[in-house]
Amino acid sequence: MDGVAATDRLYYENAYLREFDARVIAVRKDGWIALDHSAFYPTSGGQPFDTGTLGMARVNDVEVENGVVWHKTDAPFSVGDTVHGEIDWPRRWDHMQQHAGDHMLAGAAWQLFGGVTIGLHLGRENSTIDMDLPGGRTHLTADEMEALETLVNRRVQQDDPIRCWFPGTEELAALPLRKRPTVDSHVRVVAMGDYEMVPCGGTHPSSTGQIGPVKILSCAPARGKMRLCFVAGMRAVQYFRQTAACAEQVAAALSSTMAEAPETLLREREAHLTQQKENAQRLTQAALEILGLRKSGHIYAAHLPFADRDILLSAAKELTKEPQAVALLSCPGKSGHALLFARGAEANVDMAALLRQCGGKGGGKPDLAQGSASDETALEQAAAFLLKVEIEK
Ligand SMILES: [Zn+2]
Repeated sequence: MDGVAATDRLYYENAYLREFDARVIAVRKDGWIALDHSAFYPTSGGQPFDTGTLGMARVNDVEVENGVVWHKTDAPFSVGDTVHGEIDWPRRWDHMQQHAGDHMLAGAAWQLFGGVTIGLHLGRENSTIDMDLPGGRTHLTADEMEALETLVNRRVQQDDPIRCWFPGTEELAALPLRKRPTVDSHVRVVAMGDYEMVPCGGTHPSSTGQIGPVKILSCAPARGKMRLCFVAGMRAVQYFRQTAACAEQVAAALSSTMAEAPETLLREREAHLTQQKENAQRLTQAALEILGLRKSGHIYAAHLPFADRDILLSAAKELTKEPQAVALLSCPGKSGHALLFARGAEANVDMAALLRQCGGKGGGKPDLAQGSASDETALEQAAAFLLKVEIEK
């Protein structure tokens, strides 16, 4: 809005300031107000806005426009009112940890792999960094991810100072910035240890140790770039807690130790799959025996209450090796009976047409059709029809 003085942003000087007193200098409709100074961070640079209170009112959104910080409140204010502001500290601190974690990863990825950060999204559960890698690569190898994570956490544990300031034009020009500023004047710079220096208007802890652990969750291609997903600080602690609880539960269910759980699980899965395969073979064999007893001419027809679609399919495959054979099979299905009609290479009858002709729902090709019916009538009708045709030949 024209005529409103730019807000003195208290978080530039002190990112730890949680409370302040200020004066309302402008009001807009829908509860948006501007103050002479504010510690509330407006959404910018990939870092979400702060919430909190201004007097008795809640602050539900904060935006910046032409240097003016606008607070969306749920109560009316008038120009000239004085207010006591308090920001929601756990939310802000979490944002500071994620945001500074982003700097550490982006800086280290640039030094290790020449990755250029092109976007950051700080999400509710985890955050992402989009990067341009040399040669158009869209992922890092497992070893590269580990090297990146190790370097970042080593720097965190060094507890190096983090400093923010507004350099003069000459000083700015001489600084070894990882990225050039996107604005011409009033450029704020953040430096972490001696390895990360970029223009940034965000909020940061005063040393790297306060970022806490940084964990890369994944690395995947996104829109032709590489996207790193990560958590930092208490979110990383929460992540370790959840994954440890999950691993403990899996180990307990397998009566194994946590270290042996993956191997035990794979072994048991393998054994289970082998067992399933053997069961399927046994059931197919039983199906073929029953069908053999019920054979009439070239027609094999039966409802197999113990079978499923896979068993029907493998039985049909076996039966239709006989060129003249027609297999009309059914098993219990979701809506009554599942049907499978198949024929050998020389049987001259359209299975899909036959399925529909006998009231079955579904379809397929002339040599193999699948569908369903509410009862056994469809199968019986199909068998009777084919027998009649065979007798008339
Ligand atoms: Zn920053």
